[in-house]
Amino acid sequence: MMTNPFIDFQAQIEAVKQRHVAGEINQNERDNLIRHMKLKDDAWGDVWMLSPAGEWFRRAKGSQGWVRDYPLDLVELPDMPITAMDIHQVAKTIHHCIRCPLHETRTRAVPGEGPVEADLMLIGEGPGYHEDKQARPFVGNAGQFLEELLDSIGYKRRDVFITNVVKCRPPNNRDPQAEELAACSDYLTRQIELVNPKVIVTLGRYSMYRFFPGESISKIHGQPKRLGDRLIVPMFHPAAALHQPRFRPLITEDFLKLPQFITEAAALAEEPADPIDPTNAEQLSLF
Ligand code: URA
Repeated sequence: MMTNPFIDFQAQIEAVKQRHVAGEINQNERDNLIRHMKLKDDAWGDVWMLSPAGEWFRRAKGSQGWVRDYPLDLVELPDMPITAMDIHQVAKTIHHCIRCPLHETRTRAVPGEGPVEADLMLIGEGPGYHEDKQARPFVGNAGQFLEELLDSIGYKRRDVFITNVVKCRPPNNRDPQAEELAACSDYLTRQIELVNPKVIVTLGRYSMYRFFPGESISKIHGQPKRLGDRLIVPMFHPAAALHQPRFRPLITEDFLKLPQFITEAAALAEEPADPIDPTNAEQLSLF
C-alpha cells in the first residue's frame, strides 16, 4: 500500500509532542526537535516542515524563502457549499472537480497558491503545459517573466496569491470556453472572498472580462477600477509580452504602478486592519 509521506511525518511530529506531554522533554526541546524535522517529498516538490505552531511551510522551487502552505493530502474532500469552504478545501475540491469536460484532459488541476492574507492577487487565464504537470500556476516561461515583474516592485512570488479563471488546462492551450469559465467561477469567487486582496491584477483578456466585460485590453490596461474596497487593475498577459515585444514595456510600466495602487487601496477600507496575530508574527520570524 502507498504510504502518504505527510501523514507519516505528521505522526512523527505527534510522537514528539507526546514525549513532551509525558514529561520526557521540555517545551524548548520539543520545539527544537519539531523545527529541525524536514520532509523531502518529490511528488509535492521541495522541502516541507511543520512549525511548532502547527503551520506547514514549503520551500518553493527557485526561492530561498519558506512559503506558508498546506499539503492537500491531509484535507478531507469537503461536503459543503463552496461559499463555506476554507482556502484548502476549495483547492481540494478543485483537484476533484468534474464540473466541465476539461477534467477529462487535465493531468492535474491548478487551484492557485499563495498566502491567504496577500494584498495582491494575480489572476491569469488558465494552466498551460507545465502548470498542468506541476499543479502550480505560472511555472513556465510566462511565470518566469511574471516573477521578474514582481521583482521590479520588490515583491516575491511567495508574497502574492496567484490563480487563474479556469483551473484546468484547455487542450493545446486554446482559449477557455464560456461553460468552462462558468464552471470555475464559484471557485474564483470564493478565493477572492477568502484572500480579500487590496488589489487584483487581471492578466490577459479572459480574466479582464470577468470584471470588465466587453472592454478592450489595449484601451484600459494599467487603469485601476474601484470595486468595493479594492482596486482591479487589468494588464496584458505576460505571455503576450514574450510573444510580441511591443507589449513588454506596457506591462512593465503597468507593474511599476502597483505599489501606489496598493497604498491607495489600503486607504479605501474604512475599518482598521485586524491586529497582527502575535503567534504568527513570532513563528514567521523563525524563518
Ligand atoms: N498562463 C496563465 O494564464 N496561467 C498560468 O497559470 C500559466 C500560464
